[in-house]
Amino acid sequence: MSVNSLLFAYVVSFLAGLSVVALYYDYRQKRFEPRPSEDHVFRCESCGFVYTDDADVDRSCCPQCGIMNDSIYF
Ligand SMILES: [Zn+2]
Repeated sequence: MSVNSLLFAYVVSFLAGLSVVALYYDYRQKRFEPRPSEDHVFRCESCGFVYTDDADVDRSCCPQCGIMNDSIYF
């Protein structure tokens, strides 16, 4: 085994180990970070109560007074 192939093997194994560590930390971060919510945010026109509802509804009833409200966008 020549010095060049030994050096090449060393560099390749070092980079492979680094990639495994990077992938591991990326996986951990994805696992523990809260996923961004797709829910719509609503603000009641009557009582001012702010609440959320599913992303697939455009209008939602206020849980406080039951009035239908449009979602608000930021
Ligand atoms: Zn309300």
